[in-house]
Amino acid sequence: MSGKKGAKTVETAVKLTPITESQKEFISRIEKEAGTSIHLCYQCGKCTAGCPAAFAMDYPPRKIIRLLQLGMVDTAINAESIWLCASCETCTARCPKGVNIASLMDAMRRAALKQGKITDKKIAAFNKGFLSGVKNFGRTYEAGLTLQYNLSTGQLFKDMALGLPMMNRGKVSIFPERIKGRDEVKKIFEKVQQLGGEE
Ligand code: SF4
Ligand code: SF4
Repeated sequence: MSGKKGAKTVETAVKLTPITESQKEFISRIEKEAGTSIHLCYQCGKCTAGCPAAFAMDYPPRKIIRLLQLGMVDTAINAESIWLCASCETCTARCPKGVNIASLMDAMRRAALKQGKITDKKIAAFNKGFLSGVKNFGRTYEAGLTLQYNLSTGQLFKDMALGLPMMNRGKVSIFPERIKGRDEVKKIFEKVQQLGGEE
């Protein structure tokens, strides 16, 4: 099994050992949450071929599935790929076996958050800020997201030179825009929390 780090290819020796009960339990929980089965995958690679983020991933979507099939859950959950996935669902749409890989990536992110295994803290901070905007306003709030992201990653003045002219030209609003169905959106977030998801 090999993983990519930027332009470099990192070869990793794979030691196959029988899948333990806890690995089985983790995989079936992830499958249940994602509403899909990793065992349907026959490794054709169509998901990876269409993934816009695969070039930057250490383990592209096909390999994430393979790691799970082999019971290598720690490698999968520690992969940067799950944080680089943009949830675009191209992989899911292309899969001839109907594997919902996008949902699987999402379930893996939630599991990583729960276990405190966040390989890229900046992406996790962005993810949190984005979801908090959607939860509160029903849509993304760019200025708030940027501020929250910059504060939580200790880079307060990042992108200021870009952000201020965009605000002056009306491309980014200083105040959040709100949609009508905010209460329904909040209920979705509450339901996810009840089901054991992260806030
Ligand atoms: S497209 Fe589907 S079957 Fe093919 S490698 Fe990806 S998940 Fe597996
Ligand atoms: S949902 Fe994620 S893994 Fe699937 S194609 Fe989009 S970026 Fe790639």
